[in-house]
Amino acid sequence: MSEGRIDLVLPSDADPLVVQDRPAAPAPPPLDVILSGKELTAVRALGAVDLDGLLRIAPRRYVVPGPLARIADITAGEEISAVVTVRDVRDRPMRARRGSLLLVTVEDSSGPLTLTFFLARGHLVEYHRRFLRPGVRILVSGTAGEHRGEPQIVHPDYVVLDDGPTIDEAMRPVPVYPLRGKTTQKTMRAAFATALEHADVLTPVVPETVLRSQGLPPLAEALRLLHAPREEADAQRGLAHLRFEEAFVLQAIFAQRRAADDLTPAPALTAAGPLQIRLRERLPFTLTAGQEQVTEQIAERIARDRPTSVLLEGDVGSGKTVLALLAMLRAVDSGHQAALLAPTEVLAEQHHRTITELLGELGRAGRLDGVPEATSVRLLTGSQRTADRRRTLLDVVSGEAGLVIGTHALLTEGVEFSSLGLVVIDEQHRFGVDHRRALRRRGADGSSPHVIVMTATPIPRSAALAIVGDLDVLTLTEMPARRAGTESFLVPERLPAWEDRMWRRVAEEVRTGRQAFVVCPRIIDGEAADGAGQGAGGAGGEGAGGQTEGADPPRGVEQTLERLAADPRLAGLRLGMLHGRMSTEDKQEAMRAMSGGELDVLVATTVIEVGVDVPNASAMVICDAERFGISQLHQLRGRVGRGEHPGIVFLATTAPPESEAAEHLRAIAATRDGFELARLDLERRGVGDLVGTRQSGLHATLRHLDMLADTDVVDAARQQAARVVEHDPDLDAHPGLARAVADRLRDADPDVERT
Ligand code: ADP
Ligand code: MG
Repeated sequence: MSEGRIDLVLPSDADPLVVQDRPAAPAPPPLDVILSGKELTAVRALGAVDLDGLLRIAPRRYVVPGPLARIADITAGEEISAVVTVRDVRDRPMRARRGSLLLVTVEDSSGPLTLTFFLARGHLVEYHRRFLRPGVRILVSGTAGEHRGEPQIVHPDYVVLDDGPTIDEAMRPVPVYPLRGKTTQKTMRAAFATALEHADVLTPVVPETVLRSQGLPPLAEALRLLHAPREEADAQRGLAHLRFEEAFVLQAIFAQRRAADDLTPAPALTAAGPLQIRLRERLPFTLTAGQEQVTEQIAERIARDRPTSVLLEGDVGSGKTVLALLAMLRAVDSGHQAALLAPTEVLAEQHHRTITELLGELGRAGRLDGVPEATSVRLLTGSQRTADRRRTLLDVVSGEAGLVIGTHALLTEGVEFSSLGLVVIDEQHRFGVDHRRALRRRGADGSSPHVIVMTATPIPRSAALAIVGDLDVLTLTEMPARRAGTESFLVPERLPAWEDRMWRRVAEEVRTGRQAFVVCPRIIDGEAADGAGQGAGGAGGEGAGGQTEGADPPRGVEQTLERLAADPRLAGLRLGMLHGRMSTEDKQEAMRAMSGGELDVLVATTVIEVGVDVPNASAMVICDAERFGISQLHQLRGRVGRGEHPGIVFLATTAPPESEAAEHLRAIAATRDGFELARLDLERRGVGDLVGTRQSGLHATLRHLDMLADTDVVDAARQQAARVVEHDPDLDAHPGLARAVADRLRDADPDVERT
C-alpha cells in the first residue's frame, strides 16, 4: 500500500465539505505493456481495453477446495481436500476408447487413495507426470468416490505443495473467469494476477469518505478481494464495492442533471383556463378519480419555473392521452406551445386525429367554425410533402401552432419553436428517457420545456430510481369503466380443431359488425421481424421452441393475407394489410380504411402495436405468438376491446403444449393486469431489455448492479451522490468520479447525451 493512497488533501480555500480526492495518479500502464501477447488476446476477447476495465470484470465463480479431511474419514459423494504424498504413478491405454488411463496412488498417515484421470491425448499424461512424481506432497481436492471398495477421486484438482504455496494459500478460492475463443483458464488467471499488481495506481471513483460511510473497502483492496480472495466472503466484499460504484456513478449523473435543472429557467405553466375548462365540457366521458388526481399532480409540477420531468405510468387503455392533452392545453392557456412525440408516424397521425377530434372547435383557430380562444394543431412528420412541411414549420416557429404532434425525430431535427413550454413523449413500453435531455434549452430565451414521458410499462421504485433517477414517477392505476376488457386464449395451431374454431370465431365477430386484426411477426415469409421505426426489438428471440417450420403455413403479412383471402371460412370479408415497408400514403390509407370501417380484417406487423385505436375492433389473432415479448403481446392485445365491445385475442403458436414457450403464453393469457405482466417481464428478461438498447446507453454496460434486487444500494448511492454533487457540482475535487461519469455518458447514445 503506497502512502499517498490514503492521504486526503483538504484545500483550505474551498468549502470544507468538499474533500479533495487523491489527485489523479500516474496513468495506469497500458495492457499491452504489462501482459503477454497471449494474455492480451485473452482479455481483449472479454472486451477489456484498459486496466480499469479489466479489473472490473468479475470472476464467474470460484473453485473452493472442500474442507481438509483424513483419507480414512472420507465418505463417497463429499467435496473434500486432503494433504497427501504421491506414492505410485501408472498409465495404460484405455480399453474401450482412445487415450490413456492415469492412476496415481497417494496416501496420508491414515491410508491410501487413488486419483484417476481419463486422458484423451498422450501429452496430458506427460503433463501430469511432470508434477505427480513419487514423494511429492500435494493438496488434492474433488468429489470423493469409490472403486472396488477403495477411496478414489476422478479428475481431482491438485496443487503441488513442495517449494510452492503453503497449505493455507492452496486452500484459497480460485477465480474462474469467463473465457472467449481459445483462451485457457490458466492464461486468463495469469493475466488477472499481473493486472492486479497494478491495482494501486488506479484512480478511485467513489470518494474515500463515501466508501467509509458505506463500510466498503477502497478500490484497490476491493479488486484484490475480488480476484485473489482468501475466503469466499472476501469476493462478496470486493463485488459490493463495484456494485456500489456503478450505482454511484449513475446517481451522480442524475444528481448533476437535477442540479442543472435547478439552474435552468422554465416557463411556469400556471393558467387553469380557458381551453382546459372548455375541453372538459366537451369530453364524451368524465375523468376517473385517478385521472383527476394525476392531472392535478402534473399541473402542480409544470407550474414551477424550473423544468420538471415526469414519468407517467398507466396500463394500456388507462386513458393517458386525454391527460397529456389537458397538460398541453395548460401550456397553451399559459401562452406557450406544447409538442407531443410518438414513436411511429402511424401513431403520430393517430394522435393527431384523436386530438383534433377531442378538441373540435377548440382546435380551429382562425377559422369560422373555431371559437375565439381556439388554438391550432399541426402534424409534422418526415414523409410530408416539402411545401406542407415548410408551412407547418413556419407555423411552429411563429407560434401560430399551439400544439405540434410528430415523431421522436422532432427532437433531433432541430425544429424551432416560438415558445415551447411542454413536451409529452409517448414511449409506450420503452424507457428511452435519455433523449429528453436533447430538449433542454429548446424553449424560448434559453429556457427549458417541461417534459412528461408516458409509458405503459410500470417499473418498481428501485428500478425507477436507477433507470430514471431524475424523473418524478406518477402512476395511473385505475382503468376507465367503459372498457369492456379482453379475454386471451392460447391456440395450439398444430391442433386443427382449435385453429378452425379460431378463424370461425374471427368471422363471427365480423358478421356481428366488429373488426379484427391479424398480427404477423414479419412482412414477408423468411425475413426478419418488421422493426421499422418502432424501436420495439422485442420480436423474435424468445424461445421459439426449435421446431422445424417446414409443415407450417407461411407467416409473413403478405403470404398470410393471400392465404386468408383464399380461406373459405373468411369468404366475403374485406381484408387489408399494414406494414412498415408500405409507402406512407398506403399506410395512411390502410389505417383510414380500418378506422372508417371499410376493412373487416387488417393483417399487420407490430406497426399496430403502439397505440392504434380502433374502438370497433374486437378480435385479434397473433401468429407465432411465442416470438413476441411480454410487453409487446400486452400492447398488441390492448388494440382490441377498447370500445364497448369485449375483445377476444388468440395467441396462436406452433410451440408444443408442454414447452416453456407455451407455458409462458398461457401465463400471459391468464393475466390481464399490465403491471403484473411487467413484473413477469422484468423477472424474465431483466431491466436491460426494458430500457431497450438503442436509447439506453446509460445502463447498457451495467455489470454488477441488479436494478431490481439492489434497492438498498441504489438508495444509498442516490443519497451519497446527491451530497457530493451538491457541494461540488462539476466534480472538480473528484477526478476519478468525473472521469467515470464522462465515460458512462460517452458510452451512452452520443446523439442523446451531448447536451
Ligand atoms: P392509453 O393510456 O393506452 O394511451 P388512451 O388514452 O388511448 O389509453 O385511452 C383509451 C380509450 O379510453 C380512448 O378511447 C379514450 O378516449 C378512452 N378514455 C379515456 N379516459 C376515459 C374515461 N375517463 N372514461 C371513459 N373512456 C375514457
Ligand atoms: Mg396511448
